[in-house]
Amino acid sequence: MRAFTNEPAHIARIRETVSRFAAAEVSAEQARRYDREHTFPRDAFARFAELGFCGLTIDQAYGGQGRDLVAAVAVIEELCRAGAACLAGPYIHCAFYGGVNISENGSEAQKRDLLPQLARGELLFAYGLSEPDVGGDLAAVRTTARLNPDGRTLTLEGTKRWCTGADFAGFIYCLVRSHDDDRRYKNLSFVLVPPDTDGVTIEPLDHVNLRYTLSSDVTFEGVTLPVENIVGGADGWQCGWNMLAGKALDVEKLEITAVTFGIAEAAVEEAWRYAQERRQFGKPISGHQSVRHALVDARTALEACRHMLYHGAWLAQTGKPCSVETSMAKLFVAERAAEIAIICQRVLGAYALSGEYAMERYVRDLLGMAIVGGSSNMQRNNIANRLGLAD
Ligand SMILES: Cc1cc2nc3c(=O)[nH]c(=O)nc-3n(C[C@H](O)[C@H](O)[C@H](O)COP(=O)(O)OP(=O)(O)OC[C@H]3O[C@@H](n4cnc5c(N)ncnc54)[C@H](O)[C@@H]3O)c2cc1C
Repeated sequence: MRAFTNEPAHIARIRETVSRFAAAEVSAEQARRYDREHTFPRDAFARFAELGFCGLTIDQAYGGQGRDLVAAVAVIEELCRAGAACLAGPYIHCAFYGGVNISENGSEAQKRDLLPQLARGELLFAYGLSEPDVGGDLAAVRTTARLNPDGRTLTLEGTKRWCTGADFAGFIYCLVRSHDDDRRYKNLSFVLVPPDTDGVTIEPLDHVNLRYTLSSDVTFEGVTLPVENIVGGADGWQCGWNMLAGKALDVEKLEITAVTFGIAEAAVEEAWRYAQERRQFGKPISGHQSVRHALVDARTALEACRHMLYHGAWLAQTGKPCSVETSMAKLFVAERAAEIAIICQRVLGAYALSGEYAMERYVRDLLGMAIVGGSSNMQRNNIANRLGLAD
């Protein structure tokens, strides 16, 4: 079973197209090499963009396909399930980091300028949220943006950490402290920072997961930009928290959960195949009850994950409040995926530790999912707060 039985026909077609594309464009050997080199195939992504899927988060009025979040989530799932997370990464930097945030929070001028480029897959964003001393507590960011006396420019100072894709992005979607006072949540803005601006330096960090590109420290020293780069225009100044914690965040939680789910599916499929080919003690290891049951537990957990993910996507698509459900999906799928990773790793035994199989990459990626994109504890806090649990 791969999808809900009542999934709309157009999403089934999208799945088929994406999975055929991924199989043709990213072989197992290529996926290994991209991971090793922290890169993705730019020419393949350009061909992928021609299929139109980057516009699935963008209204037709701005050159998109019309917002279809369930379909966009299915695109991510299929790429990852096919072992091509290296294409899901740039897709997310385009359709989600760019498309969703500018659609939700951009000024009319920003929408007219940026959304058509994003819909064509020609522009990718990076996220500048985390900092050396700021992880989950994003309201405490220290990177500053100050309006200059000329009234036409602003200047940024500070350092962002783990800025994934700063090397290829057209803009870093950067959360900054834009007011001196300490009114938490009311002193923040988002600014679009082109990484090639004078005063921006990029220093790659070493990491073991999601290696479709580099994650970097990005330092701003006297970086001066026009006020037009404030997300939302003048009206967006000091509104950064609402932009961060608003509807766009619900969709972000779905996007990272779709990656997690897709990679977990790939891991289970690899372990399932392997267990039937590998023979020990005179029979396939899938014939040993503990292996057999572990694989069934992993598949069962996957089915529960599928429901959590697509229920959240459906709520977001239909405009229903879904902060709790999307946090539950992020939490549940990331935690189950870590368990699934361990199960699948054990099934492959020594071969899960060798570069010969994709499993070692799946395990590295899956174990990181409860940390990145808002840790499991951050999701638990959000759910408890939203449901009014006293603290
Ligand atoms: C490969 C990779 C790519 C990344 N890409 C990006 C990116 O593009 N842009 C970006 O901005 N960031 C990015 N990140 C950063 C990532 O989103 C953060 O790592 C994540 O938000 C968690 O922050 P932290 O690791 O600093 O954890 P911390 O906030 O320091 O927390 C550490 C631990 O303490 C727990 N904890 C903290 N506070 C609480 C609390 N109040 N209650 C309960 N538990 C708590 C956390 O759950 C966690 O387990 C990336 C990270 C990696 C590894």
